[in-house]
Parts: sequence; structure tokens; C-alpha cells
Amino acid sequence: MKKILLKNAKLVDDIGVRKSDLLIEGEKIAAEEKRGFFAEEESKNQFKVIDLKGKYIFPGIIDAHTHYLLHSRGTVTADDFYQGSIAAAAGGVTTVIDYIDFPVDGDFKRSVAERKKEASDSIIDYNFHQVVQDFNENISKNLADLKDLGLASIKLFTTYKDVGYMIERDQWSELFKRLKEIEILPQVHAEDDALIQDLKEVYSRRNLTAPEFHPAIRPGITEALAVKEMGEEALQADMPLYIVHLSSAEGLEAVRDLRSRKAQIYAETAPHYLLLDSSYLKREEAQLYLMTPPLRSKYDNQKLWQGVSTGEFQVVATDHCAFNKEQKMQSNSSLEILPGIPGTETMLPLLYSSGVRNNRITIREMVEMLSVNPAKIFGLYPEKGSLEVGTDADLTVFDPNLEKKLTAENLHSAAGYSPYNDFTVKGYPVMTFRRGELIFADKLRAEKGSGKFIFAHSSSLLQTQNY
Ligand SMILES: [Zn+2]
Repeated sequence: MKKILLKNAKLVDDIGVRKSDLLIEGEKIAAEEKRGFFAEEESKNQFKVIDLKGKYIFPGIIDAHTHYLLHSRGTVTADDFYQGSIAAAAGGVTTVIDYIDFPVDGDFKRSVAERKKEASDSIIDYNFHQVVQDFNENISKNLADLKDLGLASIKLFTTYKDVGYMIERDQWSELFKRLKEIEILPQVHAEDDALIQDLKEVYSRRNLTAPEFHPAIRPGITEALAVKEMGEEALQADMPLYIVHLSSAEGLEAVRDLRSRKAQIYAETAPHYLLLDSSYLKREEAQLYLMTPPLRSKYDNQKLWQGVSTGEFQVVATDHCAFNKEQKMQSNSSLEILPGIPGTETMLPLLYSSGVRNNRITIREMVEMLSVNPAKIFGLYPEKGSLEVGTDADLTVFDPNLEKKLTAENLHSAAGYSPYNDFTVKGYPVMTFRRGELIFADKLRAEKGSGKFIFAHSSSLLQTQNY
């Protein structure tokens, strides 16, 4: 196969922005040189040449939080790994880190093997976080398997006790000790379950369960309480803790407080917590905007943007959990509506338009949050998340001037609706290379199943020698 020369683009990674030409050979980045360096070989027709004047090249974008083919409440999400990965590739995403349901018998070898099978028709690369809902001797022993299976992290819930997801408070301390021994990073979905149960009861009794009451039933204070409680545990255990989808000003305040006391707290937020607000839950078809944690006020949007601007968030990821309209509209009770929205495909363009274009973050900071940092934190770096010579040629080619309306017709999720229907972005990915192969440019170009599981080493947060 001919080498591919990507010329005249600007490269962006955590080193900075520079004018360089990139050479791809097979699945890898073969060279980075000053513009024009390859002119002689180029003139001898040795390469397939793609002129990317006016475009950027990023290390392949990573969505570190997706739920493809998620079985929930008697149904399954609209996007499986095939359709979900097509939408991801169209949005410049080359790797996702999805979730694995908890196996009640603690057999992680089986749970990982089964999930790998479900993911095998993906067109982009993938890794997983293993959900852990219980802790005992057997689970403690088996947790060590995760590392050998190529996983870097587990996910804990402080809520959803009613459906069995919640890890009991009295198990945290032993669990954290064990995670420290085996170098597995804990993630937490932080919402205080007891308070939410009380509020659910109060609102239900008064018949106030429509979508617009969802934020009142799960207010920001519940997030702050859970962040504090588990953050305290992490501090005691001298362990890093990664908080998924932080959604509220109160939650961010709790993170700040813990950090001021030297807790190692890492935080992720999602585009919808920055760009959508609770007024969407008063719209017609409000169900389409319901997820957990819920959308909050414009004040929260603003506080979270400040956090993004000042480096308080290490990762932006989407919590992509796509149900179609029919599934979403089955109920008008916030206690029953299937929670979750599609997001992976629109993550990069939204963050560029509203973050970089509005001078809230630099383009380099955007690339750190969407690629470099998740790769490091979840043990995929430098194979993913870097433009280093010799690593996977996962590349997102981005046209900063391309305008697009984020309507469902322009997107690829099987959800069939777009929560960002009202948004027009300027700046859009135009080519997506996964391990050297152009998998999306205007249309799908990859074979079903051409993505693969990427073996993770332990999180950079747990290594003595940090990258
Ligand atoms: Zn999630």
C-alpha cells in the first residue's frame, strides 16, 4: 500500500500548533516533517497526496463516555456499536470508551468477553470501563483480572439503588484499597441517592413528575454531596478519583474544595451541560432532552464553562446514550422516561464553535480535553491521543470554516432526532483516519467490524512515572 502524505495542514496536539506535513504508512504515523520536506519523493509519485490547506489535523478524537447497545428498562439503545461508531467517525471520533454492565457473579473475564463480542462490528477502536456494583472477597480477587484484560478503570454509582447499581457506602474503603493495589482507576457517577429518593417521593405525591421537574428532583446539591463523600474516601485512600459527567455549579464547587485539600480529583463534563439548559425541559417534546444528571440553569452552564476555561475539567465526553423518539416519548414522567441523548458526533464541532471560536479555550486545550487527556487517563496513550511518530495514525482532519446545522438529517445516530437541532456550528471534521485508513469523509468508507479493541495499560494517574 502506498504511503499517504497529508500536506499543508496545521497539526494540533498537547505540544502546540505547528505547520508540518505528516506521512502515514500502513496503520502508523511514519514521519512528521516541515512543510515541503517530502517534495522530491512527492514529485516521484511515491505517495498518495492529500492537500489539506486551511485544515487542522488533530490526534483522533476520543469519546471517553458512551453507551452503545445498552440494555435498560426492558429496551435497548437505538445505536449499537456499528451505527454508533458510524456517527462517531462522522464526528471525527476514532476511539470510544464504552461501559460493561456488572456481572453479579463477579466474572469479569466473561463480562469483558461478551462486551467485546457486542462491540466487534464497530468501525472505530474501543475500550471499556467496567461497572462495579458490589464488593466482596470474590469480586476483590477477580478485579485483578481487569488489568490483564486491558481495562484501566471501573465505574461506581452512588445512586440508582432501586435498580441495584449503587455501591453501598460501607464497601468503599476496602474497594479503594484494592483498586490502589491493582492500579485500577475508579470513576463515579455522583448523585446522593437518599436525597433523590426523598425528593422523588415528595414530587410524586404532588404529581409533579413531568420533565420540567427532573432538575428539582435531582438538584445540583445531590451531586455536590456525593462528590464530597466519595472524594473524601479517595483522599483518605490516597487514590485519584474521576468524576463522570459533572453537571452543576455546586458539584464543581465541591471538586474545588476537595482539590484545595490535595484530593486527586479529575472531572469530566459533557457538551449538553455547557450548552443546553433546563428551559428545554419545558418545550414540547421535552422528553428528548431528558438525561441524568439533568439539564440545569444557564447559571450552571456559565459556571461550568468557567471551569472548562480555567482547566478544572480534564475531559469533555458525551455520555452518548441514544434512544429514538418513539422510545423517548413513551412516557411523560421524568421517573420513567428513558434517560440519555445522542452526543458523540456533535462533540467536537460544538466544543470548537462554542469553546474555541468564543475564546473560552484554545484549540490546543480543546484537543487535550477531547483526545490527549482521555488517552492518558484511560491508559491508551501514546498509541491514541498523540501525533507521535510510530503510533496509530488516528487522525481527525478539521475544516475550521465549514458550517453545518446540527439537524438530524445531517447526523448519523439512529436516534433520528438531534438535541442540538437549533445549533449551527462553524468548524467541522471532514476526514477521519483510523489506524491509517480513511474511514469517513462525506460518507462511510470503512468495513463493518474494522475497529478493534485497544488494550489499555494502567491510567497515567496511577503510574509513578507520569507521561
Ligand atoms: Zn453514562
